[in-house]
Amino acid sequence: MGKTLEGRTALVTGSTSGIGLAIALGFAGAGAKVMLNGFGRPEDIAKARAAVGAAMGGGDAPYSPADMAKPAEVKAMVAACQAELGGCDILVNNAGVQHVSPVQDFPEEQWDRIVAINLSSNFHAIKAALPAMLAKGFGRIINVSSAHGLVASPFKTAYVAAKHGVMGLTKSVALEVARTGVTANAICPGFVRTPLAEAQVKPLAEKHGVNEEKALTDFLLERQPTKKWVEVEEIAQAALYLAGPNSGSINGTAISVDGGWVAQ
Ligand code: NAD
Repeated sequence: MGKTLEGRTALVTGSTSGIGLAIALGFAGAGAKVMLNGFGRPEDIAKARAAVGAAMGGGDAPYSPADMAKPAEVKAMVAACQAELGGCDILVNNAGVQHVSPVQDFPEEQWDRIVAINLSSNFHAIKAALPAMLAKGFGRIINVSSAHGLVASPFKTAYVAAKHGVMGLTKSVALEVARTGVTANAICPGFVRTPLAEAQVKPLAEKHGVNEEKALTDFLLERQPTKKWVEVEEIAQAALYLAGPNSGSINGTAISVDGGWVAQ
């Protein structure tokens, strides 16, 4: 495949693991200069920086430790990307967290934290990155939402509300930038094979007294018609397409990568 992002600069939030890391690796492999962000053990962050750096041709990838729950740090992260990489042509708002609880017991601090990280950080990053995109006449805003941005599940009120909010934010920004060379879109994954998601299988098997394969297909992936994990590389490919040169007319929409979940 050609280097479709040659000369581009990109910032991927929450890219020290999982989906964000796969997107960062995909972008670097396609020729972009990429800044990483996210939490984790220092050795894991070092490994991610080395891997993305290697895909960029050597050295460690630039990294921002910004906390997406803190607007001032989000703004500083965008400024650091522009200063260190010479721009922020592609912004991927990917960092996200979850908490599961009945609404009447849902801890208020978890609600605030999830809305801040999963929704408000997208707004703050877009607000900070957009002026330079508009000045350049090119920009790609990609918000990693979820099937839960389009449909709901019980016990995930904050996550579902925040991800639905991301869809509204994406559409509104898309309309504002429609004639500028900038696009804003969302990716809506179903259940993706990441360490955190995989860790949910064993407890489900124990809870329902079934083997792990049955726990996966019948319980965790109950609503994912393929009964298969989505792989992080599949999300990265969707992001690569949205970031690339052939997606200029795709604006304000959602690409579902969910095995058919929201077709039901
Ligand atoms: P993950 O836990 O592997 O990665 C989350 C990333 O966000 C990590 O790099 C983490 O350090 C970072 N992060 C968490 N809090 C942060 C904060 N306050 N500031 C900065 N970074 C922070 O999870 P993932 O599965 O790769 O999820 C990535 C995105 O995809 C999330 O927005 C999630 O909601 C969405 N998603 C995931 C799935 C799935 O099945 N895994 C499905 C649909 C949507």
